Amino acid sequence: MAYSRENLEAEMDLLDTAKQQVMMVAQDLTRKGYLLATGGNLSLRIANTELFAITPSNFDYMKMTSADVCVLDFALKQHEGGRKPSVESAMHAAIYQARADVRAVVHTHQVYASALALMRTSIPALFDEQARFLGRSVKLIPYAPSGTSILKKVIARNIGDHNNAYLMQNHGALCFGHDLERAAHNVEILEKCALAYLLTLMTGRKAGHIPLAVREIAFAKLRRDQKKAREGLVESDRE
Ligand code: 13P
Ligand code: ZN
Repeated sequence: MAYSRENLEAEMDLLDTAKQQVMMVAQDLTRKGYLLATGGNLSLRIANTELFAITPSNFDYMKMTSADVCVLDFALKQHEGGRKPSVESAMHAAIYQARADVRAVVHTHQVYASALALMRTSIPALFDEQARFLGRSVKLIPYAPSGTSILKKVIARNIGDHNNAYLMQNHGALCFGHDLERAAHNVEILEKCALAYLLTLMTGRKAGHIPLAVREIAFAKLRRDQKKAREGLVESDRE
């Protein structure tokens, strides 16, 4: 963006809106039980910049205001927000740099997905809406300690398959979206799939998969959404 008063005002409006959205979605996910205690974090990329808005570290989401949300650049320099940004900020920045289609990232410690992450068990394509919104499968990303540059590198290395949800071994889950609403929606789909899969595994019986052709058609729709997001033409319908 070139420097002019109009551009500066436009950028400030964008930042304020992004911070507001991060606060609202964090509180919504907390009310729904996906963000437990202060575990997890979420962020939103600011369009046409190398900035993203991210939740503060170790801070009660229900007490958070939009002024507590931090704005960082991809080099992790803090532009706004007086609080310490999430310890996973480097992981969020690495995801935006690795995946141009991703505009929003939600990391949770949601319980059922975490149970599968403990069992080191990826989720195959079980449901149509899973393939449509989360991708071909929900893969397990190997363990690395929280808040470290090793975790950032391991995550960046494992998200090149265009899926929008992953399990993090002995840690939790990661969901992406072309906006925060979709990333939060993906958190909910993931938890439903994880619970249904866990219940099936507990019976000792095999979970059937959806037909391969159906999975591929659904995944192709997700890939079309991602192409639009990369080109800045975000779709808001949920066909
Ligand atoms: P923050 O509170 O710093 O975001 O850390 C929570 C978390 O989930 C670490 O992986
Ligand atoms: Zn975490």
